[in-house]
Amino acid sequence: MISFNEALDILLATATPFGTGRCSLASSPGRILADDILSDVDMPPFNKSAVDGYACRISDLPLVMKPDVQTRHAAVPSHTASRTPGGETRHAASLQMVGIIPAGTVPTHPIGPGECAKIMTGAMVPEGADTVIMVEDTEELPDGRIRFTADTTAPNICYKGEDIRQGDLVLPGGSLISPPGIAVLASVGAVSPTVYKQPKVAVISTGDELVDPKEIPGPAKIRNSNSSQLIAQLGQMHLEALGLGISGDSKEELYAKIDEGLAKSDVLILSGGVSMGEYDYVPGIMSQLGVEILFKSIAIQPGRPTLFGRRGSGFVFGLPGNPVSSFVIFEILVKPFLFKLMGHTYSPPLIRLPLGVDFRRKKSSRKSMLPVFIREGEIFPVDYHGSAHIHSYIKAEGMISIEIGTTERKKGELQDVRLL
Ligand code: AMP
Ligand code: MG
Repeated sequence: MISFNEALDILLATATPFGTGRCSLASSPGRILADDILSDVDMPPFNKSAVDGYACRISDLPLVMKPDVQTRHAAVPSHTASRTPGGETRHAASLQMVGIIPAGTVPTHPIGPGECAKIMTGAMVPEGADTVIMVEDTEELPDGRIRFTADTTAPNICYKGEDIRQGDLVLPGGSLISPPGIAVLASVGAVSPTVYKQPKVAVISTGDELVDPKEIPGPAKIRNSNSSQLIAQLGQMHLEALGLGISGDSKEELYAKIDEGLAKSDVLILSGGVSMGEYDYVPGIMSQLGVEILFKSIAIQPGRPTLFGRRGSGFVFGLPGNPVSSFVIFEILVKPFLFKLMGHTYSPPLIRLPLGVDFRRKKSSRKSMLPVFIREGEIFPVDYHGSAHIHSYIKAEGMISIEIGTTERKKGELQDVRLL
């Protein structure tokens, strides 16, 4: 039996990406970028209005400058408000409207003293203007002039290059592409990014007691829930799994099914048949099929009889049949392995919170993973009857890990929760 950390180390050391290819933006969610992406433009690419309003000169406004507004304006080199020693600005009573600037057009007229131009959000701020007053802070006078009605204003300009400069790294290689990541790729024109190849993953459930979920189980039978669960977990990683159904527990059927699974996949995930039962033939058959077994027992609860092996460029997991074990081991071991195979270092979402109740368990030589929920910033255990009790995980918002040697934790002690 090896420790959880040893098992994880073996998995991560074994997994290396097996190639890259290009994909379209539309098919990039969940893919892992292979190359660094640099921006080909400044962002914003021009001084851009942040509001609908009027572009004008700060020195024309009847306002008292706030310190932060002064600083912001001070960053704009060629436009400075002319202020009295008391901090008041010189101003005109109202502004002459000299034009209208829609988004997407280049303004043709610079703004002179006492002038303004109506401007839309996202439009280019014209020469001469250093401020955009919000339309809500203005009124149009009967003669068409514009009067500023507030006491103060922000510049309301997104300055050229303030977010990103041309040549800046916007997404490093190894990043998991998220929806905001896709927005970034689109904004820099990276329309066919180079991504790591996805492994072909196949799933087999083993057990003479199993029937397909659409069947009514006969006496001593249960429905196969692991295959659906594993395929869904893979789906959350944007991996489309090949479901190879159920194998009975006979040596012949298992041999044929595992042989098929190895031939059709880069990573084969089996559930069931790996513990100490009379008909747990999976490890022996893997050896017969030339699979080198790298571990087959981990000091973890649930999930002790977890097997991992490789054959040529392919890999195989044998997960314990109990649905909670299969779920948990996928989350904590298979998932980081698959991500590493795709060039991504996975770190689970963790938050550190106080326990809401005292926690006790029997002395154990295994690390335990337990389902928990969070209420008002504290952690509570979900009612959990053991590794067959998959219903407990419906209510679980996360898992906590209780380390080997720990039997007691007190209410209020801080604990990492791995969010699900
Ligand atoms: P095993 O790991 O094959 O000894 O199975 C352990 C327990 O998990 C047994 O109670 C099995 O009936 C149950 N089990 C195994 N495979 C599945 C599956 N695919 N779906 C639901 N339960 C399963
Ligand atoms: Mg079995």
